[in-house]
Amino acid sequence: MTQQTPDDCIFCRIVAGELPSERVAETERSIAIRDINPAAPVHVLVVPRRHEPTVGALAASSDDLTDVFRLVQQVAEQEGVADAHRMVVNTGSGAGQTVFHAHVHVLAGARFSEEWL
Ligand code: 5GP
Ligand code: ZN
Repeated sequence: MTQQTPDDCIFCRIVAGELPSERVAETERSIAIRDINPAAPVHVLVVPRRHEPTVGALAASSDDLTDVFRLVQQVAEQEGVADAHRMVVNTGSGAGQTVFHAHVHVLAGARFSEEWL
């Protein structure tokens, strides 16, 4: 799996405020930003401030993991989609992961495929 050090990681740079983003919410441990290339009317990324390449690696810290899911819930409520949203986590390039800093996609407002789920 591709590894990025925090210095060349887009999301680390967004967390640090070195690159612009549309922040919709944040906590001490995580930020929520609108996806630059939205796949649905609501498409927010919840990104832990701590760099780990995958959500699986982030799970070593239950505090960070819990915070990400709390922020997902807060964003869903803020966006008015608490009862109709989908969380997506891509792990590994084979599953479509392109940014190797853990993040959860929060998607809503579209009719999602039922092919898999
Ligand atoms: P992945 O495919 O790794 O699960 O998702 C990465 C997501 O990050 C993609 O949906 C992509 O559009 C988004 N993304 C990539 N670069 C940027 C950026 O600079 N800013 C924002 N807001 N989103 C980005
Ligand atoms: Zn990073």
